[in-house]
Amino acid sequence: MIAHRPPEELLLGYASGSLPEPIALVVASHAALCPETAREIGRLERLGGTLLDGLAPAELKTGALDRALAALDIAPPAPPKPIVTPAARALLPAPLWPYVKGDLANVAWQRRSADVHTADLVTDGGARRAFLLRVKAGRPVPRHTHRGLELTLVLTGAYCDAANCFERGDLQVADPTMDHQPVAQAGDDCICLVALEAPIRFTGPIGRLANPFVKL
Ligand code: ZN
Repeated sequence: MIAHRPPEELLLGYASGSLPEPIALVVASHAALCPETAREIGRLERLGGTLLDGLAPAELKTGALDRALAALDIAPPAPPKPIVTPAARALLPAPLWPYVKGDLANVAWQRRSADVHTADLVTDGGARRAFLLRVKAGRPVPRHTHRGLELTLVLTGAYCDAANCFERGDLQVADPTMDHQPVAQAGDDCICLVALEAPIRFTGPIGRLANPFVKL
């Protein structure tokens, strides 16, 4: 049973295809683990289709079809689908498979501290990015606040902040009004898929000193 699901406006953004890729990746990955969210996205997509059906048809400019077909011809070929290992199939939601080239062993982990590693997956060309975060079991990440939305989907282990605990499939949405210190729970290392609209800002006594140097 998944306790923490995204707010309706995020699902609406996803269903209408208007979310940037890093944010959409986290919503899609959560939906792959949460039947309730998947059903809700399906409902919103059908609703969008019904609204489109109700619009009066507009006249196309001359040659529009030819131009659309020509654009299809020059579209870059889709990248080859990676071979997905059984371990990745068991652990990772399907939308993540191409981003990790078929297995977690293929991602490039960067050490952020003794307890925290990250692996970049995708950016939107600006400040928005999605990455994997791995926190050692029982250890905290530095206390921080946010400069935009932060979406965190738990894949393994669990973490708690002062307000809530999050387990596999749960999605936490944090924003600039929230200051928190997530702590990975005992047991498995906590691996999360995270999307940020902008770098977080450390607010703890030691983390503050790191702000100019560590972009997380
Ligand atoms: Zn946060």
